Amino acid sequence: MATVSNAKKLKEKLFKKPENLGKTMSETEIKKADKFCEDYKSFLDLSKTERASVTTAVELCKKMGFSEFSENVKYRSGDRVFQVNRGKSVIFAIIGESSIANGVSIIAAHIDSPRIDLKQNPLYEDGELAFFKTHYYGGIKKYQWTTIPLSLQGVIIKNDGSAVNIKIGEDKDDPVFVITDLLPHLSALQYKRPVKDLIKGEELNLLIGSRPFKDDKESELVKLNIMRIINEKYGIVDSDFRSAELEAVPAFKASDVGFDRSLIGAYGQDDRVCAYAALKATLDYKGIPNKTVITVLADKEEVGSDGNTGLNSSFLKYFVDSLAESMSKEREKSISSRAIFTNSKCLSADVGAGFDPGFPDVLDKMNAAFLNYGVAVMKYSGSGGKSGTNDASAEYIGEIRSLFEKNNIAWQTVELGKVDMGGGGTVAKYISFLNVDTIDIGVPVLSMHSPFEITAKNDIYMAYKAFSAFIGR
Ligand code: MN
Ligand code: MN
Repeated sequence: MATVSNAKKLKEKLFKKPENLGKTMSETEIKKADKFCEDYKSFLDLSKTERASVTTAVELCKKMGFSEFSENVKYRSGDRVFQVNRGKSVIFAIIGESSIANGVSIIAAHIDSPRIDLKQNPLYEDGELAFFKTHYYGGIKKYQWTTIPLSLQGVIIKNDGSAVNIKIGEDKDDPVFVITDLLPHLSALQYKRPVKDLIKGEELNLLIGSRPFKDDKESELVKLNIMRIINEKYGIVDSDFRSAELEAVPAFKASDVGFDRSLIGAYGQDDRVCAYAALKATLDYKGIPNKTVITVLADKEEVGSDGNTGLNSSFLKYFVDSLAESMSKEREKSISSRAIFTNSKCLSADVGAGFDPGFPDVLDKMNAAFLNYGVAVMKYSGSGGKSGTNDASAEYIGEIRSLFEKNNIAWQTVELGKVDMGGGGTVAKYISFLNVDTIDIGVPVLSMHSPFEITAKNDIYMAYKAFSAFIGR
């Protein structure tokens, strides 16, 4: 019969227990993680919209020797290129040593986040206050977006075709905007609403001013005065809002959270945390990778990836087609994107729901992701019995698992909630549609889709290491 100490030994051998990264990472490595996250916070503050994220990412990549992709160039191993799609999504590539016919390494993250978009006809006055009407973007708890400072960012295309870029509410001297909420004293009826309607979509109106235009007895003088100010500042008239994309996003900056500064609180970490880690891993890669690397930062994930800047369109495929044509010239042998995709592997880099002790009932603790336990690997998302998801194969997970173990990357599995608790999706299924082996991996997040999402610095650094290892595979 086995003794107690034998049972302990056997347990250690048969059941590997995960450990908190705060215990397993060296002091030097934790310092590296903290340093990495300082740059990450600066990226977040500059990149609160998909357009701003593209601009920041392109600036960074140019410093690291990337040049704009051209159909007419014969690319060779080691070349570094980028291609922007309509200012809202971007692809980075490093041409690898082996033929792209053997497949490429794709990392796909998204740079759009839930937010409050302006309607096409937004400006109105009521109760001698001026407002913008809005239509929220992505899955938000609408009540979380009231009574917080918001900045306004985006672009207005004037009738003559010229573009006016708008960014107001980010500089310390800028004014901000806000969605008001009802005082508790008078909320008896509001409290009776179902929570999802506590604030209704049509109540998400942005307060933008209150001083009337002086002079005469016209109606709606506050609205007139606001339009006058906007006209003086940007040279636009009311009808120019019809051809604009303006997004209200939280105006506050990314911050350290906690006495130990181990966490980051910021807007838009879903999915800029993975986008930044993937971008940095791509830009920092030294030398020539074996496989060609393609890192995609996509738009529209939060609304189902539809639209031509989302991954449920062909822009990734077209880029690979163009690359294949260029490489065919170089190697004097025709390469089809069909062969490339079939041999390719992808990390769909997106955040996972972290375990929140305040709400333990929605997750199966045995299959939940914990903050500070490394990158979360998600075999499937979806809902209603794994519907609407890429369900990664055992073979591909096995490959990724070995890669992570070999490179000392802490990882954990994650499921999006208990069975039938809810669900969701990522871009994974749109990439596996191209016959690419795909799996979701990312950083665990608390308060996902809120104006102030929480991540752990050690996990972020682990994601950077994971993407670096994948690029170097
Ligand atoms: Mn996401
Ligand atoms: Mn999301």
